[in-house]
Amino acid sequence: MPFFIWDPTYIFIIIGLAISGIASSYVKSTYHKFSDVKSSKGYTATQVSRMILDSADLQHVRLEGIRGDLTDHYDSKNDVLRLSETTRKSTSVAAIGVAAHEAGHAIQDKVNYGPLRLRAALVPVTNFGQGVSFPLIFAGVIFGYNQTLIDLGILFFSLTLVFQLVTLPVEFNASNRAVLILKEQQILTSQELSQAEKVLKAAALTYVAAALASFLNVLRLVILFGGRRRD
Ligand SMILES: [Zn+2]
Repeated sequence: MPFFIWDPTYIFIIIGLAISGIASSYVKSTYHKFSDVKSSKGYTATQVSRMILDSADLQHVRLEGIRGDLTDHYDSKNDVLRLSETTRKSTSVAAIGVAAHEAGHAIQDKVNYGPLRLRAALVPVTNFGQGVSFPLIFAGVIFGYNQTLIDLGILFFSLTLVFQLVTLPVEFNASNRAVLILKEQQILTSQELSQAEKVLKAAALTYVAAALASFLNVLRLVILFGGRRRD
């Protein structure tokens, strides 16, 4: 929206982008640091995810490869856990941490972990909100500052923040599960475990950064359009 671009609150967007950028380069550097640390048992990330899935009675969840760096994810719709090229064959503590984290999502799915369900339910709502929020605000401004339309637009825009906030427990919980399983099943030694934990904590920070950036975006809209009430 061109008429939004050069107001002073644009700094909020820049700060949000900077925070996200820093978090993303931090997770990449942490991952690459610990991708040089090979686990002593010598399991690959693929073997570890299979072991964790099988021990959780999730034999039906298939493992697949996917292109890219840190593109690993669990696909609940198709019961597939996809490990990236960098992770799949690696025996590093970083790769094993990521693989265990993704298996953690599969376990959340199995046990019907509440925040995971809520997050899935929020996906279409959030997408809808993203689609209508700016048109609503735009219409509100055009039609003589119609505050109802503007507020509605900001409300729909805020759904992204709600989505990001619900993502936090999902991600933290998957990592907690991962660390616990890696410990219980003695897949990593205690030193290796703390290294894998560092990778997962760095990864979790990217979600915190995304939520923070979202919050700044909402705040900016509230500052720009929220306060101009008609009497
Ligand atoms: Zn995750």
